[in-house]
Formats: sequence, structure tokens, C-alpha cells
Amino acid sequence: MSHAQPKVGFVSLGCPKALVDSERILTQLKVEGYDIVPSYDDADVVVVNTCGFIDSAVAESLDAIGEAMAENGKVIVTGCLGKRGDLIREAHPDVLSISGPQDYRSVMEAVHHALPPRHDPFVDVVPDYGIKLTPKHYAYLKISEGCNHRCSFCIIPSLRGDLVSRPVDQVLREAEKLVMGGVRELLVVSQDTSAYGVDLKYAEKTWHDKPYATRMKALCEGLAELGVWTRLHYVYPYPHVDDIIPLMAEGKILPYLDMPLQHADPRILKLMKRPGAIDKTLERIQRWRGICPEITLRSTFIVGFPGETEAEFEALLDFLEEARLDRVGAFAYSPVEGAAANALPGEVPEDVKQERLARFMALQAEISAEKLAEKVGSTQKCLVDAIDGELAIARSMADAPEIDGLVQIQDGFMAGLKPGDFVDVDIMGSDEHDLYGEVAYND
Ligand code: SF4
Repeated sequence: MSHAQPKVGFVSLGCPKALVDSERILTQLKVEGYDIVPSYDDADVVVVNTCGFIDSAVAESLDAIGEAMAENGKVIVTGCLGKRGDLIREAHPDVLSISGPQDYRSVMEAVHHALPPRHDPFVDVVPDYGIKLTPKHYAYLKISEGCNHRCSFCIIPSLRGDLVSRPVDQVLREAEKLVMGGVRELLVVSQDTSAYGVDLKYAEKTWHDKPYATRMKALCEGLAELGVWTRLHYVYPYPHVDDIIPLMAEGKILPYLDMPLQHADPRILKLMKRPGAIDKTLERIQRWRGICPEITLRSTFIVGFPGETEAEFEALLDFLEEARLDRVGAFAYSPVEGAAANALPGEVPEDVKQERLARFMALQAEISAEKLAEKVGSTQKCLVDAIDGELAIARSMADAPEIDGLVQIQDGFMAGLKPGDFVDVDIMGSDEHDLYGEVAYND
């Protein structure tokens, strides 16, 4: 009988929230003595964590399952697409098991069934902060699951249910362990960060002998105690978001807000079932910039939503010009199976969608290039992600990993920088995404 560790292959697809699920499963596998291996050939069984958010993600997930079936043959499927088991079974009838998002127990049961654990106390070393898929110096911190909104283009509430927040002391303890394990940047993620704690009636908890409410502001205050970068994602511009802008101005959390606005025309926002007071959003943005001038605002938008007229699309372009957001992502509307928006009349033809997307991106590229050019001549604090030849690839406070730009530090290698280092950089050049500079020597 072989004494080798049982080996599990792992494929992780989808958004940062799915990544957090993958990390939890990987941690549990490690704790139980499984080896995680990078190739199908070496694996005794393969877990595929899927995404089911938009049609292209469904296709990508089904392809990944197909590849794992062809290369290995013993496949456990979990994640968002797991909610649509019939679709998976139809394409891949022989998968071993199917479970939905955050169903860690079902995944572990399926792994145990396919591959009983072989416990070896001498090799059971797992760091206290778990296994992370992101580089060691940044980590996603999931504060809640699910969502109380019912945006008409989205099926997340039907996949993940209503909002369930994690109590603030639990989140702060996890964050503290991550920081002790070397994390220098915490990325707060959820479906709706500004709603954090509403389901728990903002329950007060104790952490380090101090009371904290399960609420976005108190969470930020707690995270600020850890002395690392805290970046907020998926924040909706509700009035109480105003309360956290002073924390940004005081340097307690990063002056960065990722707020998915999706559109700017009141009628389209109504069809999307999103809050429609776009004038208030503009006012709010002005006010935030008054309190914290260095704030970076990121958003995402959908163009070509059913019924969107040329005038309504132009209202979106006008908003973009007025709001001058720093970072913007956009998608051409793509129907998601099961979404209420599919029943709306006035489907926008594909060529019109693509033409609008191109106009939208061209305008934002101009705005982004102008905003980045304003940074040339300044010094920016950056966090190094990687060394690439002579260069250090870093990010400033304005850049979230994966989705925003980079800062290329020309003399990064010479300066002895390493991933996870903070460094001041003199910015010498820019384009529409990235900044270029050299290490700032303050003497
Ligand atoms: S806020 Fe809307 S888009 Fe976001 S997860 Fe909730 S329902 Fe989906």
C-alpha cells in the first residue's frame, strides 16, 4: 500500500467571493492531510469550484468540468453553478458530486468518499491563517454572503440567498491572523458591503476588549487598528457611506471606493431595480471629494440593457463626463438564465451594444488617461506585487489587484524590492491604465 498523501487537484473559477470559498476548502483539505497538486495527472480526484453568474461564466465552468473529466475522470463540482445541477449532469453525467456555493461540508464529504483521508500528525502543518490563493501580501476578506437587493439582471440572490453577515469579531479575528501571516492589504468583499450587519441588527461584539458594532464603519475602525491597507469593494452610495470618508481622509483605510453603479439614467436604473437618484450620487461624489480629495472612485456599468435608447445611453456618457471616475469597468448586457430582466422588451441588437461599449470605453480611456497624467510629478506610496526582470510591478493606493492599473518601478530590482514591500515611488510617466516611476529617495 502506498504511504503517499492522497492528492487533490483544484480548479478555482469565478469572482473574489468564490476565491474565498476555494481558500476555505483548500485549508480544510490541508488540515485533513490531503496534498494539493497542480496537475490533473497527479491528482486522485479534482474539485472544480464553478461560477454561474453570466452565460460566459457558465460556459467556462462547464468547459473546466469537461477538461477535468477528460484528463482525470474523478471530478467533484461545487460553487455557484452547482445550484444548477441539471445543467451540469446533462453535459457531464459522470461527475462524482455537485454542491452549491459555501457548501464546504458537501465538498469535504464527497472528497472523503472518493478518497479517504490519511491522517499523519507529523505532516499536518497548516498556517493559522489558512491557505490563500492570492499572493501572500494581499487577501480577500469576505464579510457577508448573499444580497437583499433584487437587481433584475442578477441571479446572485437566488444562488446565494439573502444577506447573511459574519459577526464583526469573527471578521476582525480572521483579518488579524491574515496580517500575522504576512498580509499587507485586506480587500473587503461581499455582494453589498454597505449593507453589512443589517441582518444582525448591527450586533455589538468585543474584539481586543473594545466593543465594535457589526457595521461597515466599526469594521473599518477595527481593521484600521491592524496597520495595513484596507480596501473596500462593492459599496453602494447610501447616505451612511458618508461616515467612512473621514476615515479615508485620516489615512485609516485606503481612500478608495469600489461602487458598482451599473447605469446613470433613472429609467434604466428603475428597470434594473437599482436606486435611481443619480443626481444624489453626483452630489455625494462631490462631497466625498471635498472631504477626501485623494479618493479613488471605481465603478462598473452595463451598456445595452434591454430598452436602452440612444438618449439614455448618452445620459450615461454625460454622467461619466461629469463624475470623472478614476477607474471604470463596463460590460455589454448579456442575459443570464433565470434573471428577471430577460422578460423586458426592447432587446438591443448585438452590434449596437458593442458600438456603445466601444464609445463608452473610449470616453473613459480619455478620462482615465487625464486623471493618471495628473499624478505625474507626485510621489505615491505603492505595494510591490512582483519583480519582473529589472522592474518591480507594484500598485498605488488607487489600484486594486486584478482590476485596476499598475505602477512599474523601473529600478525596482536594483533597489532590492521584494513582493509585499511598501515603497514611495516618484511618478514620471503615465498612460491610460498604468503609471511609471522610480524609487523615491527622500534625502
Ligand atoms: S446588489 Fe444587485 S447586482 Fe449586486 S448581488 Fe445584489 S442583486 Fe446582484
